[in-house]
Amino acid sequence: MSYDTENIFAKILRGEIPCDKVYEDDYALAFNDISPQAPVHVLVIPKGEYISFDDFSSTAPAEEISGFYQAVQTVATQMKLQEDGYRVLSNIGANAHQEVLHYHLHILAGCDLGRMVK
Ligand code: ADP
Repeated sequence: MSYDTENIFAKILRGEIPCDKVYEDDYALAFNDISPQAPVHVLVIPKGEYISFDDFSSTAPAEEISGFYQAVQTVATQMKLQEDGYRVLSNIGANAHQEVLHYHLHILAGCDLGRMVK
């Protein structure tokens, strides 16, 4: 499967579609999910063209991987999520119902998340 440059997160990265930005640096963009599943529901996406966690983890240069996960950590810290806890997850492929084919991490927080799955 090749990367589709017309996916919605690619359009957000190019500024063609607006987003409710939470954080941005050279490696990542974080924004509020348009359909939040918890009081805090942020998506963090890499700047590069990667389809999924699997694609990113297996093909991205180490600098991009390190920069991306540091950005996730920065978002959690800036939003003070460590104190009460938070969930990070990523859907990969058909069985997980990944809808947008640009790698993204969901950050969920702000309530007892129980065993809810995204
Ligand atoms: P699923 O929709 O099954 O959760 P994904 O893991 O691919 O599949 O998640 C895509 C996420 O992107 C969803 O939580 C959806 O609400 C969110 N989303 C879709 N379009 C936008 C948008 N324009 N801005 C912010 N979030 C979006």
